[in-house]
Amino acid sequence: MKLIFLALAVVVGAVAQPKTVFVITDAEGVAGVCRQDQTDPKDTEMRQLLTGEINSAVAGFFDGGATDVFVWDGHDGSQTLSALTIDSRAHLVMGELPVSMLMDRHFSAAAFVGQHARANTRGGVMAHSYSSLGIQNLLMNGEPVGEIETRTALAGWFGTPVIFLSGDSAAAEQLKKIDPDAETAVVKEGIDNYSCISLSAEAARRLIHERAAAAMARIGQIQPYRVAGPVTIQIEYTSRHALTPDDALKSGAEIVDARTIRFHGKDFLEAWQRARP
Ligand SMILES: [Zn+2]
Repeated sequence: MKLIFLALAVVVGAVAQPKTVFVITDAEGVAGVCRQDQTDPKDTEMRQLLTGEINSAVAGFFDGGATDVFVWDGHDGSQTLSALTIDSRAHLVMGELPVSMLMDRHFSAAAFVGQHARANTRGGVMAHSYSSLGIQNLLMNGEPVGEIETRTALAGWFGTPVIFLSGDSAAAEQLKKIDPDAETAVVKEGIDNYSCISLSAEAARRLIHERAAAAMARIGQIQPYRVAGPVTIQIEYTSRHALTPDDALKSGAEIVDARTIRFHGKDFLEAWQRARP
């Protein structure tokens, strides 16, 4: 009898364990989005394409056992998604996020939907690092990085693994390089910045749903990406954003040239907080 109770407690314990997923969304890595004009947050078709992919990922995460899914509207000022059209089981996160990106809530996993590759990626559709107009190059410990590497490192600093990415083939490759066990859904192949070979919305949604569910099944096997300290974050701005004398006074800052600044930190979070690109 005692054994049965014990077994029951173990089963109930396993079921009760929350599995929370934080989804970072963007527009440039969505199937059928390949031109700059489509990334306007008010573009009706892009909104439908993006929302469809997000809802497929949300459905996949729930099918795979997620208990809560948080979706952050991460594209261009958080004005693309709507509570009217997001999967009713998801929580919609709107607005600018703090440096922690809420990772201090220790989600079970993080994921990317609609993700693009970093700046200067050959064959990356609209590849950029945070700001296509403002940032020429972003380096972490001397290596080129973009949103994928830095946000995966941020999640990793808080002990959260990135388990899934949907986007173009270049973006998927870049996640795999630092997070080889993550599931990816490649929805288009980039030819160059504004040319691609895309899946249909329907095919992309099917693939995302399937891979997102598969990713959930692997929580626990996928390790958080931890960057050993000390860490440098170097921002090379575009020529329209030269540095000012005040930049030299920022903590941990080293001026490299007229439009390049390097921030030093004892670990990723400290360097990242100082840089805030
Ligand atoms: Zn982006």
